[in-house]
Amino acid sequence: MRLQDKVCLITGGGKGIGAATAEVFCQEGAIVEIADVDDAASLELINKITEKGGEIYTSHVNVTDADSVNKWIDDVNSRHGKIDVLFNNAGISAVGVLHELDESLWDAVTSVNIKGVYLVSKAALPTMIKQGYGSIINMSSCIAEMGLEKRAAYAATKGAVLSMTKSMQVDYAPYNIRVNALMPGTIFTPFVEDYLRRSYDDADKAIAGLKKRQLGPELGTPEDVAYAALYLASDESGYVMGSGLKVDGGVTG
Ligand code: NAD
Repeated sequence: MRLQDKVCLITGGGKGIGAATAEVFCQEGAIVEIADVDDAASLELINKITEKGGEIYTSHVNVTDADSVNKWIDDVNSRHGKIDVLFNNAGISAVGVLHELDESLWDAVTSVNIKGVYLVSKAALPTMIKQGYGSIINMSSCIAEMGLEKRAAYAATKGAVLSMTKSMQVDYAPYNIRVNALMPGTIFTPFVEDYLRRSYDDADKAIAGLKKRQLGPELGTPEDVAYAALYLASDESGYVMGSGLKVDGGVTG
């Protein structure tokens, strides 16, 4: 029980990596708070976890909207009076070469993937500072370190998150708050399925191509990332600060 009674916040936790992380955290004794815009997915998750005896709360929160985020953090503080772990996981994709990419898509992907991390961290940090501890996990990607076709805008956001993580760590280390990033490779989630469906005529061929880039034989699973998040959330990673943990099947070498 690595997270017994720890209050763990997960943005974009309704499905994919966030949902798998919620399950793993609950198995480890955490009280999980999910923020997501997908109410149906959140409901499905809450049913699944409560059936197994886990303690989980879900809220409709848009991480790009300060009022929505601030209300969520106020509610969390009222319910539990502390925030042990914040996993800034919510993210969206943007596929396309830059000269053809709609400005609206640039604005959307930078808003969710970068501003979302800023707004949620900004709202949660005063609680962590006051209590004198905390662990923040920011979702970057292996793409922060490598090139991939039609992903320049998305890559820009994940590079930004990795850079942000390192400077956040410098600022918040004096308060005993650790800030680290996760850098997954291709994890088979609704996010990736959607990307493949929209981007390629032959999705199977695209999957084979993605596998060929990495050293491991299979694409990653949400659980692969969830267990890495568990490590960064738990005291076992106490000496890990300002780092980007790769969970990428060796795609970055
Ligand atoms: P997913 O689409 O399966 O889940 C993302 C969740 O975020 C969804 O439930 C969605 O509703 C929620 N969300 C989107 N916009 C939101 C907003 N404005 N406010 C609140 N919630 C919002 O995606 P996933 O594959 O689980 O990805 C999770 C994170 O991991 C993302 O940040 C993504 O960029 C990152 N990532 C994914 C992969 C991968 O291969 N799947 C690889 C590297 C990094």
